[in-house]
Amino acid sequence: MVEYEQVTEIPAQSLSTRVVHPPIPQNVQGRPISVPIYQTSVFAFDSAEEIRDALGDPRGAYAYSRVGNPTVRSLEQAVSGLEGAHNTVATSSGMGAITVAMCPLLEAGDHVVIQESLYGGTMALFADLTKRWGVTFTEIPGTDLDALRAAIQPNTKVLYLETISNPMTNVADIPGMSAVAREHGLITVVDSTFTSPVVCRPLELGADVVVHSTTKYLGGHSDLTGGVACYADEELFKKGWNYAVVIGVTPDPHAAWLTLRGIQTLTLRVRQACSNAEVLAARLAEHPKVVAVHHPSIPTHPQHLLAAKVLDRMGPMLSFDLASLDAAFEFSREVKLIQAAPTMGGVETLTSHPATSSNRGQSEAELAAAGISQGTVRISTGIEDAEDLWADMARALDAVTM
Ligand SMILES: *Cc1c(COP(=O)(O)O)cnc(C)c1O
Repeated sequence: MVEYEQVTEIPAQSLSTRVVHPPIPQNVQGRPISVPIYQTSVFAFDSAEEIRDALGDPRGAYAYSRVGNPTVRSLEQAVSGLEGAHNTVATSSGMGAITVAMCPLLEAGDHVVIQESLYGGTMALFADLTKRWGVTFTEIPGTDLDALRAAIQPNTKVLYLETISNPMTNVADIPGMSAVAREHGLITVVDSTFTSPVVCRPLELGADVVVHSTTKYLGGHSDLTGGVACYADEELFKKGWNYAVVIGVTPDPHAAWLTLRGIQTLTLRVRQACSNAEVLAARLAEHPKVVAVHHPSIPTHPQHLLAAKVLDRMGPMLSFDLASLDAAFEFSREVKLIQAAPTMGGVETLTSHPATSSNRGQSEAELAAAGISQGTVRISTGIEDAEDLWADMARALDAVTM
């Protein structure tokens, strides 16, 4: 009975009208265990006057889903809780989140200090900002405080870092770098896609804004595209939120719901992936056909000690160098359980070849400067059994000709 007391009344009898107006549950008394998907682009009101009041107040009633949707809001609150953020803006992709985080902080002619070897899509966005608005960028290593001090100009507004870089797994000194940035009045933005909040929470280390491609670990199942920008304070959040609404990169409720569902297993997935990555990195380091292994757990990794300070675990991403392009291609052909795919962060282990995929836009000299060789292979470690993964890798390595 309760069920029928809570549906909207349909004041019409004809079939052609009734098909258009199914009864919609209103303020259901039972508490759903799973977040409901509010798959609606718009909300109805009792009067035009109420719409006016809702639209005039950014925290007012839900009115239009580009501006606000309960499922999306639930995701934003969930992620804020994980990152220790004051508030979060969910977006339709990771690039959307980076755009929302960066553009409201910049005006034409401003300057940004960036960590070297950033994600390719991010570099494409920054190149566009240079061309369109004359925003200039200076690249420095993510651990070099002196280089940061030297790079800061009167028009510098932002320091942009990635917690762990692709594909060499360099770890940024977020506490040290963000402290210098703060002294000089810069906002620190950190792309933490490679770690997820299970491995690192940059806001706790001094960052002002954290972005994620939720397409990767937060979603975790290679079935959605999304992003989040998480803010330490209200003023920056409002700017980001306004910008996301204006340019229209807020997410669809269904993608937000998939992300919420993925987040429920985030700790289990990421911890398992990190532990698998450590096992694989250690075994690869012993293998005669492997020239070098890049993972923060390896004692010779350049930020092995820093990683222990800023990361809760050593991360789920690793890469290693084979002797040549042919060897790297052969490895990708020979693995059977591990699939070749140009993404990361899902439950399944994937491999990619950075020089011809994520970093294909870089010249031979730029690749060399970043430490990426033609033989570099990237592994996004999934949650499978570590021994099965190693058996697949070892078989593929055996087949690789030197
Ligand atoms: C994938 C990725 C992005 C972009 O995310 P999309 O969801 O593909 O837009 C940004 N930064 C990093 C580090 C990524 O791996």
